[in-house]
Amino acid sequence: MSKIIFLCFLLITCMLWSTVIIEYEDTNEQEKINVSKFDDVEYFNVYELNKVFRALVKVEVLDSRLYVNMYEKQIIFLLDSSYVTEGKKVYNFTFPIIQNDSKYYIPVNFLQEILPLIYPEQIFYKIDKIIAPLPDDNRINTIVLDPGHGGKDPGAIGFSGKVYEKDITLAIAEKLKAKIEAEGKIKVFLTRSSDRFVSLRERTEYANEIEADLFISIHVNAHADKDVTGIEVYYLSTARTDDARATEALENAVVYNYEGGQEALEKYNDLDFILTDMAQNEYLQESHELCVTMQNNVIAATGGVDRGVKQADFYVLRGAFMPAVLIESGFITNKKEEKKLAYEDYQEKLAQSLFSSLDSFIRKIELMH
Ligand SMILES: [Zn+2]
Repeated sequence: MSKIIFLCFLLITCMLWSTVIIEYEDTNEQEKINVSKFDDVEYFNVYELNKVFRALVKVEVLDSRLYVNMYEKQIIFLLDSSYVTEGKKVYNFTFPIIQNDSKYYIPVNFLQEILPLIYPEQIFYKIDKIIAPLPDDNRINTIVLDPGHGGKDPGAIGFSGKVYEKDITLAIAEKLKAKIEAEGKIKVFLTRSSDRFVSLRERTEYANEIEADLFISIHVNAHADKDVTGIEVYYLSTARTDDARATEALENAVVYNYEGGQEALEKYNDLDFILTDMAQNEYLQESHELCVTMQNNVIAATGGVDRGVKQADFYVLRGAFMPAVLIESGFITNKKEEKKLAYEDYQEKLAQSLFSSLDSFIRKIELMH
């Protein structure tokens, strides 16, 4: 009897004490992956990858797959199997993934044998520990708010002929900045805090320079049809609808009109800059996620017409090395909407709904990483 108790005790201690050590290269920092035993095989909960490698873990039960994004690669596990793929390569870690208590567990030998194969230059297994690069910090620490237009460029002009887009965008950005900063967690910078002209390229260059984690460009829309109203949020893409193309042309016209005509336009279209718009590809998923959150919140708060989340090729979003979105907060060419947009209480409401969107977006992102 005492033997059995002793054995049980030993087993429990094993389960509690067993861990795999991850050591971050060039640092003295370590993390531990907790290990549990099932049928005598050592397993770890897939979410441990999230803890130690800041991996993004997504379970797709319908197609029996488990997606793990880490160190810029996507690893796909086939549920109930011992197979994992990365790109065109397939690896087998002998024991199948198991599900326990609605959590997914992966055999520990995946860490020691397969990870070094998937990341031959980055991850190494040495006797009793795994050496890996220190993962990026995915927390949102710095946000750049970009009030559209300014100085010699008034942006869209209101129905009345007296209200300018540049003034409304600055007012909303300043209100939003105050709200975020009041929380005391995130630093906020504006691409302009006065009525001055800033080129589109300078705006993202500034955000890159200070290593911002989010870029939000604030605009007001215009339409030849004075009846058109509503709100839309954009992320960067070359695929777009005719409607989105019209707004894109409107916002990109700054370059031709105020930055030096055809010559300036050509600079934006040169290869260098086209290559940098590929920078956004990496952030498309997060940019899209932020757009959806914003659109839902802003529409719910203002009761405005929902014109949806859209894609367009805005010069101002190109070259941003971070998730980047652009909000068109209403049509200044509509008599009613112009009035609302110029009204401080309405700007406050818009800023508050943008603040709530950021809050829920950041919570979601930080939970995922
Ligand atoms: Zn604009």
